[in-house]
Amino acid sequence: MHEASMVAAMMNILEEEARRHKVTKITRVRLAVGLFTAVEPRTLEACFELYAEGTAAEGAELAVETVPAEGRCLDCGASFAMTSLRAPCPLCGSLRLEGSGGRDFRITGIDARQDEKTSE
Ligand SMILES: [Zn+2]
Repeated sequence: MHEASMVAAMMNILEEEARRHKVTKITRVRLAVGLFTAVEPRTLEACFELYAEGTAAEGAELAVETVPAEGRCLDCGASFAMTSLRAPCPLCGSLRLEGSGGRDFRITGIDARQDEKTSE
Protein backbone atom coordinates (compact mmCIF):
# COMPACT_ATOMS: atom_id res chain seq x y z
CA MET A 1 0.00 0.00 0.00
CA HIS A 2 1.26 3.36 -1.18
CA GLU A 3 0.08 5.29 1.89
CA ALA A 4 1.70 2.84 4.31
CA SER A 5 5.23 3.54 3.10
CA MET A 6 4.58 7.27 3.26
CA VAL A 7 3.29 7.00 6.80
CA ALA A 8 6.22 4.81 7.80
CA ALA A 9 8.63 7.49 6.56
CA MET A 10 6.62 10.15 8.34
CA MET A 11 6.70 8.22 11.62
CA ASN A 12 10.51 8.14 11.50
CA ILE A 13 10.57 11.91 11.28
CA LEU A 14 7.97 12.33 14.02
CA GLU A 15 9.78 10.05 16.43
CA GLU A 16 13.08 11.74 15.69
CA GLU A 17 11.53 15.18 16.31
CA ALA A 18 9.83 14.00 19.48
CA ARG A 19 13.15 12.69 20.82
CA ARG A 20 15.04 15.81 19.88
CA HIS A 21 12.55 18.17 21.50
CA LYS A 22 11.83 15.87 24.43
CA VAL A 23 8.19 15.74 23.49
CA THR A 24 6.04 13.10 25.11
CA LYS A 25 2.83 13.73 23.24
CA ILE A 26 2.22 14.88 19.69
CA THR A 27 -1.26 16.34 19.39
CA ARG A 28 -1.39 17.36 15.75
CA VAL A 29 0.61 16.79 12.60
CA ARG A 30 0.25 19.18 9.69
CA LEU A 31 0.98 17.68 6.31
CA ALA A 32 1.37 19.16 2.87
CA VAL A 33 0.30 16.61 0.28
CA GLY A 34 0.69 17.26 -3.43
CA LEU A 35 -2.22 16.97 -5.83
CA PHE A 36 -0.53 14.15 -7.75
CA THR A 37 0.58 11.97 -4.85
CA ALA A 38 -2.62 9.94 -5.20
CA VAL A 39 -2.95 9.72 -1.47
CA GLU A 40 -6.37 8.77 -0.21
CA PRO A 41 -6.96 10.82 2.98
CA ARG A 42 -9.00 8.09 4.66
CA THR A 43 -6.35 5.45 3.98
CA LEU A 44 -3.69 7.86 5.15
CA GLU A 45 -5.50 8.40 8.44
CA ALA A 46 -6.09 4.70 8.97
CA CYS A 47 -2.40 3.94 8.34
CA PHE A 48 -1.36 6.74 10.63
CA GLU A 49 -3.54 5.43 13.46
CA LEU A 50 -1.98 2.02 13.06
CA TYR A 51 1.62 3.24 12.97
CA ALA A 52 1.17 5.84 15.70
CA GLU A 53 -0.10 3.34 18.22
CA GLY A 54 2.27 3.19 21.17
CA THR A 55 4.31 6.18 19.98
CA ALA A 56 4.26 9.84 21.04
CA ALA A 57 1.96 10.49 18.09
CA GLU A 58 -0.77 8.13 19.23
CA GLY A 59 -4.17 9.84 18.92
CA ALA A 60 -2.72 12.85 17.12
CA GLU A 61 -4.86 14.66 14.60
CA LEU A 62 -3.76 14.81 10.97
CA ALA A 63 -4.28 18.15 9.27
CA VAL A 64 -3.77 17.62 5.56
CA GLU A 65 -3.32 20.51 3.18
CA THR A 66 -3.36 19.83 -0.54
CA VAL A 67 -0.49 21.38 -2.46
CA PRO A 68 -1.48 22.49 -5.96
CA ALA A 69 0.43 21.24 -8.98
CA GLU A 70 1.67 23.46 -11.79
CA GLY A 71 -0.79 23.23 -14.60
CA ARG A 72 -0.22 24.17 -18.22
CA CYS A 73 -2.90 24.36 -20.86
CA LEU A 74 -2.01 22.54 -24.09
CA ASP A 75 -4.43 24.69 -26.07
CA CYS A 76 -3.72 28.27 -24.99
CA GLY A 77 -0.44 27.79 -23.14
CA ALA A 78 -1.61 29.36 -19.88
CA SER A 79 0.15 28.40 -16.66
CA PHE A 80 -1.82 28.19 -13.47
CA ALA A 81 -2.01 26.52 -10.08
CA MET A 82 -3.87 23.25 -10.49
CA THR A 83 -5.92 22.53 -7.41
CA SER A 84 -8.17 19.83 -8.77
CA LEU A 85 -7.58 16.97 -11.19
CA ARG A 86 -10.80 17.74 -13.00
CA ALA A 87 -10.69 21.53 -13.23
CA PRO A 88 -10.46 23.01 -16.74
CA CYS A 89 -8.06 25.75 -17.89
CA PRO A 90 -9.11 28.97 -16.11
CA LEU A 91 -8.49 30.99 -19.28
CA CYS A 92 -10.01 29.03 -22.15
CA GLY A 93 -11.85 26.19 -20.44
CA SER A 94 -9.84 23.47 -22.17
CA LEU A 95 -9.40 20.11 -20.49
CA ARG A 96 -6.21 19.30 -22.37
CA LEU A 97 -3.86 20.07 -19.52
CA GLU A 98 -0.45 19.02 -18.45
CA GLY A 99 0.46 18.98 -14.80
CA SER A 100 3.83 18.93 -13.12
CA GLY A 101 4.99 18.98 -9.54
CA GLY A 102 2.34 18.27 -6.94
CA ARG A 103 4.23 15.29 -5.56
CA ASP A 104 5.03 16.82 -2.21
CA PHE A 105 4.55 14.84 0.93
CA ARG A 106 6.02 16.66 3.86
CA ILE A 107 5.38 17.59 7.43
CA THR A 108 4.81 21.33 7.73
CA GLY A 109 4.17 21.48 11.44
CA ILE A 110 3.93 19.45 14.60
CA ASP A 111 1.90 20.47 17.63
CA ALA A 112 3.11 18.83 20.77
CA ARG A 113 2.93 18.89 24.49
CA GLN A 114 5.90 18.72 26.79
CA ASP A 115 5.49 17.29 30.23
CA GLU A 116 8.62 18.73 31.80
CA LYS A 117 9.94 22.17 31.12
CA THR A 118 13.26 22.11 29.37
CA SER A 119 15.43 25.06 28.48
CA GLU A 120 16.49 25.53 24.87
ZN1 LIG B 1 -6.28 27.25 -21.93
